[in-house]
Amino acid sequence: MTDTQRETMEYDVVIVGAGPAGLSAAIRLKQLDADLEVVVLEKGSEVGAHILSGAVLDPCGLDALIPDWKEKGAPLNVPVKDDNFYLLGEEGKVRVPNWPMPPLMNNHGNYIVSMGNVCRWMAEQAEELGVEIFPGMACSEIVWGENGEVKGVVAGEFGIAPDGTKGDGYEPGMELHGKYVFLGEGVRGSLSKQVIAKYELDKESEPQKYGLGMKEIWEIDPEKHREGSVTHTMGWPLNKNAGGGSFIYHLENNQVYVGFVVHLNYENPYLYPYMEFQRFKHHPLVAELLEGGKRLAYGARAISEGGYQSMPKMVAPGVALLGCSVGMVNVPRIKGNHNAMLSGKAAAEAAHAALRDGRSADELSDYETEVRGGAIGDDLKKVRNVKPLWSKYGLNASLALGGFDMWTNSLFGASVLGTIKHGKSDAEATGKAEKFKPIDYPKPDGKLSFDRLTNVSFAMTNHEESQPAHLKLKDPKVQVDVDYREFAGPSQRYCPAGVYEFVDTDSDPKFVINFQNCVHCKTCDIKDPAQNIVWTTPQGGDGPNYPNM
Ligand SMILES: Cc1cc2nc3c(=O)[nH]c(=O)nc-3n(C[C@H](O)[C@H](O)[C@H](O)COP(=O)(O)OP(=O)(O)OC[C@H]3O[C@@H](n4cnc5c(N)ncnc54)[C@H](O)[C@@H]3O)c2cc1C
Repeated sequence: MTDTQRETMEYDVVIVGAGPAGLSAAIRLKQLDADLEVVVLEKGSEVGAHILSGAVLDPCGLDALIPDWKEKGAPLNVPVKDDNFYLLGEEGKVRVPNWPMPPLMNNHGNYIVSMGNVCRWMAEQAEELGVEIFPGMACSEIVWGENGEVKGVVAGEFGIAPDGTKGDGYEPGMELHGKYVFLGEGVRGSLSKQVIAKYELDKESEPQKYGLGMKEIWEIDPEKHREGSVTHTMGWPLNKNAGGGSFIYHLENNQVYVGFVVHLNYENPYLYPYMEFQRFKHHPLVAELLEGGKRLAYGARAISEGGYQSMPKMVAPGVALLGCSVGMVNVPRIKGNHNAMLSGKAAAEAAHAALRDGRSADELSDYETEVRGGAIGDDLKKVRNVKPLWSKYGLNASLALGGFDMWTNSLFGASVLGTIKHGKSDAEATGKAEKFKPIDYPKPDGKLSFDRLTNVSFAMTNHEESQPAHLKLKDPKVQVDVDYREFAGPSQRYCPAGVYEFVDTDSDPKFVINFQNCVHCKTCDIKDPAQNIVWTTPQGGDGPNYPNM
C-alpha cells in the first residue's frame, strides 16, 4: 500500500511499545526536559494488555528512574519472603539449598508484581509528565528517510480487507516522525527485526536464543497461600528433551503465578511445550498447591535468552533498540524488566544530550556504550555462559559448571571459560522427524490441566476477523513441504495458542492459520524450521487482553 497518503505528526522522540523499556525512556526524556515532544505507541487495547511477565522484579531499574516510587504508589506490594529451588523427578523432588548459589541469584529485596499493573502505573507517571500515549496503535511499518535513516513509523492503519485491499471504513493511519525513534517492542519485535536486518546489526553477535514462557494465574486455597513465596524448579517433565523449568510466585489475594519456560532450541519436533506445562502441574509439588483452586488467566510470550553475546548492535541512524528488542534477560535469574527499564533510561539520556546539541537522526552511540559497559552489561556478563553450557552439556553439568562460572565472574570479574558461543539458531536446532519418536502426552483432566483452546479463551485474545492473517508465509508451499513432511508439523505443537493446524492429512495436507487465537508470543517467527512464517502486527487493539499478568 505504498500509494497511501497519510497525515504526519512530528515529535522529538517516537517510542514504539509501552513496556517497561519504552515507558522508562518516555519518563526519563520528560524528566530531563519537560518541553520535549514524546509519544508512545502501543498495539495492545490498553497499556498492560500485552504484558506477560508475572514477575519477580528487581527494583534497581525503578530506583534509578523514579527513586520515590514507593511514595508515588507504585504497585510493588509483595516483597519476596522466601526463595526455593527444586530439582524434580517424576514423583519426587530435591531441594537445592540457597547457600551454594551466587549472590546474584538471591531474590530478597525483590518484589512479586504484575508487570501489567506496573506498566499501567508507569504510563500514569509518564502522562503526568506530559508524554502522549496512544494504545490500540500497532506500528506496522518503518518510515525510512532519504538517507536510509529511520525517520518514523506508520501506526493505526485499520480496515484492510482479508484479500489485502482497502476495505470499507479503511483508515490509512498516520506517519509519526521523530528526530529519534526508539523501538521498545520487546522480544522478537517485528519492526526491530527489519532494522536489524537492514543495518546488519547482528553480524558480529551470536544468534539470539529464546524460550517460550507460558503462564497461568490461579486463585488457591488461602490455607496453602504463602504471600511472597518464590519457587523455581528444573528437571521433570522436560528432562533431556529440552532445557527449561518452572516458576511459582505467590502474589496478593490468594493468587499464584504458575509459569513454565521451554527453551526453544529443542531438537525433537514432536515436543509439545504447552502439554509439558500442563503435565508439570500434575507433579505432587504443584498439584497439592493447586488442588481446589481456580485458574483465572492464561498467556504466553517468548523470552530472550541469548544474553550478553547475542545482543546485536543497538543503534543505527535515527533509531535505538531498547530492552528485549535487543535481548537483555538475565537467564539464570529469569529477569529482564530491570534491564529494560535501565536501557530505556540510558537511551533517553543519550537522546536528550544529542537533541540538546542540535543533533538528530544519527546513531546514539553513547546509549550502546552505556548498555554494554554499565549496569546492564555488568548484570549480563556474569551469567553469559549459563545458557550455552546448558544447551551443550544438559541440566546437571550446567548447574555445576554454570554455578562455578557465575561465582568466578562475581568474585573476580572474569571467567576461565571465556565467552561460550551459542552456535545454531533455535529454528536450525529442530531435528527432522525421522530421527525422533512421537511423545505421548496424557490428556488434560480439566481440573489441573486444560486443553489448549480452552486455556486460550483465558487470554481473552481477540482479532477482528475481516483482516488478512497477520501471520504471513513467505512461500505457502513450504509449510506442507518442509514443516509438515520433513518435521512432522511442529507448528501444530510449538504454538501455545493453537494457531496452526494441518488438515486433510490423509489426502492433500493443507496448512490452516487460525490467526484469531494468536497471543503475540512470536514463537512461530522464532521456531519455524524453514523460517517461512513471519509475524507482523495485526490491526491495533487486537491480541490478548491480560488483566494483571
Ligand atoms: C513468562 C515470562 C516470565 C518472565 N518473568 C520475569 C520476571 O520474573 N522478572 C523479570 O524481570 N523479567 C521477567 N521476564 C522477562 C521480561 O518480561 C522482559 O525482559 C521484559 O518484558 C522486557 O521489557 P520490554 O519493555 O523490552 O518489552 P515488553 O515487556 O515485551 O513490552 C513491549 C511492548 O511493546 C508492544 N509492541 C510490540 N511491538 C509493537 C508494535 N509494532 N507496535 C506497537 N506496540 C508494540 C507490546 O504490545 C508490549 O506492550 C519474563 C518473561 C516471560 C515471557
